[in-house]
Amino acid sequence: MQDRIISLRKQFQQELSSIKSSKEVEMLKVKYLGKKGPVQDLMQYLREVPAEERPSIGQKINLLKEEMGQLCELALTSFSQAELAIRLESEKIDITLPGRCRFLGRRHPLMLVMEEIIQIFSKMGFSVQYGPDIDTDYYNYEGLNFPPDHPARDMQDTFYITPHELLRSHTSNTQLRVMEKQSPPIRMIAPGTVYRNETISARSHVFFHQVEGLYIDKHVSFADLFATMESFCHQLFHSPVKMRFRPSYFPFVEPGVEVDVECTACAAKGCRLCKHTGWLEILGAGMVHPEVLKNGGIDPEHYSGYAWGMGIERLTMLRYGIKDIRQFTENDVRFLEQFS
Ligand SMILES: [Zn+2]
Repeated sequence: MQDRIISLRKQFQQELSSIKSSKEVEMLKVKYLGKKGPVQDLMQYLREVPAEERPSIGQKINLLKEEMGQLCELALTSFSQAELAIRLESEKIDITLPGRCRFLGRRHPLMLVMEEIIQIFSKMGFSVQYGPDIDTDYYNYEGLNFPPDHPARDMQDTFYITPHELLRSHTSNTQLRVMEKQSPPIRMIAPGTVYRNETISARSHVFFHQVEGLYIDKHVSFADLFATMESFCHQLFHSPVKMRFRPSYFPFVEPGVEVDVECTACAAKGCRLCKHTGWLEILGAGMVHPEVLKNGGIDPEHYSGYAWGMGIERLTMLRYGIKDIRQFTENDVRFLEQFS
């Protein structure tokens, strides 16, 4: 038994001396001191040793066990330190490298102007409503007093999906949906994207943005429309701006007007932007046609209202002096980063 202890110690020392990493130390520790290891075996054999020798042999086994444990711990500590030093050396951080720059995103100029418009009308008590981009012919045209084959449909070159479904050509498709759900007084605006089958150029695009407005109550007059539009323009252009209202035609209003403001680029002296007229058209409006009120379930004998639609691209181009509508969709960071 004595000999077995001595030879096991020797064997252990030999193996330990050839070890090269902390991982191998762990494995050696398990091999010798684990439940199925040789030290445990010795304990089993202890039963076969004569009783009088058992205490001294047992003590020797315990001593061996303790010694092995201590040697393993020592080896582990020295290997771990060396390994850490190697890792630190190889993972050295070069603090002289310049940092990676993160660019701050900015809101799109169209959204900046859209949000400002929403804010102005919200302060006047208008709620914000949203209509679907894909809609039926009824909500986009027929219900708004554009019967089939009406020549006014040609004013808006429309993308049809099926004979009865289309990509909305104006945000006016929200009008009837709101009238069907609410009873007067109705005071709402509907911002959104609209689609038209037009040739893309500096002045027109196949998709753009509008803000629709609708006000229905008892005794609403043309004067109310003027006052609302005037107040809106003064707030948007941050100063009293000269306006004019020209008679115009849209099937869903009667009478209809187009609203111009004095050219902000040339102070009404005449320039290319205003085609040398000194005026810029910014929106179309009018008193809601009685047929449209009827279609929305509202009695035109008791109620009247006004509606308008304005193009956000046009207002944004005026505001920032942008000359080409295509710049809004080209995602050129040099263009977009100018707005905040
Ligand atoms: Zn001008």
